[in-house]
Amino acid sequence: MIGERVKVRIRCNVCGEKFVLRGKREKERIDTGFKQCICNNMYDFDIEEHPV
Ligand SMILES: [Zn+2]
Repeated sequence: MIGERVKVRIRCNVCGEKFVLRGKREKERIDTGFKQCICNNMYDFDIEEHPV
């Protein structure tokens, strides 16, 4: 559902750092405002969604 709020768990595949963010579902992605990991990785992540 577009606009649904979700919790997103992001794990960096480069350094293993984990982030938990609140996001909002858009058409084909989830908008969390997440830009990049602290290790500068911007693309290689495992992303899991959880209902809030
Ligand atoms: Zn990282």
